[in-house]
Amino acid sequence: MPNDTPSDTPVLRTIPREQHPISRKDISPNALRVLYRLREGGHEAYLVGGAVRDLLVGGSPKDFDIATGATPEEVKALFRNCRLIGRRFRLAHVVFGREIIEVATFRANVDDGSGDRQTHEDGRLLRDNVYGTVEDDAVRRDFTANALYYTIEDFSVRDYVGGFEDVSNRVLRLIGDPETRYREDPVRMLRAARLAAKLDFSIEPATAAPIRELAPLLSEAAPARLFEECLKMFLSGHGVASFEGLECHGLLDVMLPEAAAALKANRSGALRTVVLEGLRGTDRRVAADEPVSPAFLFALLLWPAYCRTLMTLQAQDVPAADAQRRAADRVTVHELATIAVPRRFSIPMQEIWLLQSRFGLRQRKRVMRMLAHPRFRAAFDFLQVRQAGSDEHAGDIAFWREAQLDPDMAIAHTPQDEGDGSVPAPRRRRRRSTATG
Ligand code: ATP
Ligand code: MG
Repeated sequence: MPNDTPSDTPVLRTIPREQHPISRKDISPNALRVLYRLREGGHEAYLVGGAVRDLLVGGSPKDFDIATGATPEEVKALFRNCRLIGRRFRLAHVVFGREIIEVATFRANVDDGSGDRQTHEDGRLLRDNVYGTVEDDAVRRDFTANALYYTIEDFSVRDYVGGFEDVSNRVLRLIGDPETRYREDPVRMLRAARLAAKLDFSIEPATAAPIRELAPLLSEAAPARLFEECLKMFLSGHGVASFEGLECHGLLDVMLPEAAAALKANRSGALRTVVLEGLRGTDRRVAADEPVSPAFLFALLLWPAYCRTLMTLQAQDVPAADAQRRAADRVTVHELATIAVPRRFSIPMQEIWLLQSRFGLRQRKRVMRMLAHPRFRAAFDFLQVRQAGSDEHAGDIAFWREAQLDPDMAIAHTPQDEGDGSVPAPRRRRRRSTATG
């Protein structure tokens, strides 16, 4: 199939085992077990989606999804350890201890007149409940790279949409007409940015072209789904690339409108430096298998919005502590309209912000209270990230680094006028004017 004519008419190309790198030893043994059992049961079954794509580019898949001609009930009948989930579209989960193999029946995306598939008048997909063939299943997927089917029949890869060539060329291409596909499901625009970042693929021009104009559709996507997408985008080790992708395609303005506006208004670029430095740190932690937290992530992503709101309130002569609290609340409330950050993350996110103004306080009682604060460690890490945007946190960072080892020594090392508990006026003014750092 010529690859420059995006088409949703499936034409099968089979890539034999010797022409692709996927080996059974790279596939989860449990996924293989499911594939063999389905075949013994007389059903067509394939490894599909992200796993095939990741294996082709030499990555290690997070999960192994299977597509089959068997209905969910037929799948359940074959496995003791199987439960059916989902009402809108039923899926089988085959459970092996901590690993779950998701088995989906081939699904069609075509209006067969049964009324089972409904689109909203603006083109959004409301229900897609029709079972179909493997060809139907291929063309309803989002990107060609995600529509490759590996079979244990002969260990070949089956390609109906030109995905194999696209993966070889490291290109992300929507199946079918891009605008139609984005209107059906605007989250596909985010997936384009995320997968391009994760895989280091380029987005094929016709796939990229409509994104800027259609980006506003994302504000109608379910906020809970956008939260999940954010975690995948920023906490999977490709946060910097994802952020740059969002910026470049005009998606940041919709996902994080206040932060995007604050970044644009920040002429020095210091805020952007801070955000990117924080994301770089997060990417490093993911690479090192260290834990990362959504609270810290959102504190970082929304920091520009918080700083800007805080400055506005301070310009209106709202007292500092009051302004901080109000800025934190305002940014959080506005954010929730787009992305549903659960309270268990938004509350520590706010604490991280509010603690930033306490690093200048040196009174012994305050120092001890700060060190005991459950969010101290995160807030201090955050302060260190802010250092990337402005070098005036160096003194605070040195103090608190020492204070964690020996608070009394740190306080003793602090100049007299700062050790007596009063906060010298120049410090406070300096800190206020650099709320953007
Ligand atoms: P990841 O590496 O992040 O898991 P993935 O491609 O596997 O990427 P999933 O969300 O796990 O992403 O989806 C599995 C598969 O389901 C995709 O590869 C794709 O074929 C299909 N899919 C997922 N989301 C959509 C969508 N919005 N529209 C169409 N097909 C989709
Ligand atoms: Mg996946």
